[in-house]
Amino acid sequence: MIGRGRFVFSSSRDVSPTDGATVLPRRNSFVSSLATGASTMATALFATLFPADCRLCGHPLTNISRLPVCEECLASLTRIEGVQCGICGERLNGPYELSEDEARCELCRRAEPPYAKAAAYGSYESGLRELIHLLKYEQVRPAATVLGRMLGEAIGDLPLSFMRGPVVTVPVPLYAKKLRQRGFNQAELIARAALKLLPGGFELNAQALQRCRETQSQIGLSRHQRRENMRGAFVVATPKEIQGCDVLLVDDVMTTGTTVSECARVLRRAGASKVYVATVARTLKVEMQNAGRAHEEPKIEEEDALAMAAHG
Ligand SMILES: [Zn+2]
Ligand SMILES: [Zn+2]
Repeated sequence: MIGRGRFVFSSSRDVSPTDGATVLPRRNSFVSSLATGASTMATALFATLFPADCRLCGHPLTNISRLPVCEECLASLTRIEGVQCGICGERLNGPYELSEDEARCELCRRAEPPYAKAAAYGSYESGLRELIHLLKYEQVRPAATVLGRMLGEAIGDLPLSFMRGPVVTVPVPLYAKKLRQRGFNQAELIARAALKLLPGGFELNAQALQRCRETQSQIGLSRHQRRENMRGAFVVATPKEIQGCDVLLVDDVMTTGTTVSECARVLRRAGASKVYVATVARTLKVEMQNAGRAHEEPKIEEEDALAMAAHG
């Protein structure tokens, strides 16, 4: 039996790049216009036969897509605005006289992270969080394509040089047990989708970094305790493959930065020249606190722990 999940309908249009970082070539020919006509009919037919709702807003979907999210919801997933920390990407509340590259958040001023720079596409909230959850917890794999496009935009913000050869792209690994349960590593799926859209110069390496133990929940842990909790969780299995290379560490979400910092530390110690970080989303704590909503902090911590726990 063909269930609702088999055929879903949504935007046939891609999320448009906001800064022109990644533009996909589009076919425009007689053949494709014929195909468009046929697909319009197919869309109407499928929408009648297999109605489905957008998994983000609940409105009925009208277009065929493997991703059950409507065009409006996808268009609402925009990039982080405002001045961000030049290293970790945390949003800064002005006024700042420094340029964005020089601006530093409180934490990065106190101690520079082991990575050169982290970039994220959007804020880890509402729609973007739900889209990531669709992939991670509901196995909606087509979400990886859209998330990969966003990751590609974030990668475009990094000052990668390619001077030391290909940039070795390393997804944050899952613990083996978690990987078996989920069936895929979302960071790897998203990285693959992003690299397809980017020009050459990147080399995916999903084996170099391994997660060698499970980490306990991060809920209620201080920054120091979180770091201790992560210590020894990752190991570089094949140091030769990263020695002297620039490494691009990729994950779906950056929350407190403890995970990517620990990965970057291990990669650097194994001989990586520089480590850059790109994620689809990032929690922005400064905004929450300064907006007088500090009481929501525990909620972020919980989400943080969820994201950490998702990595085993
Ligand atoms: Zn929607
Ligand atoms: Zn910072």
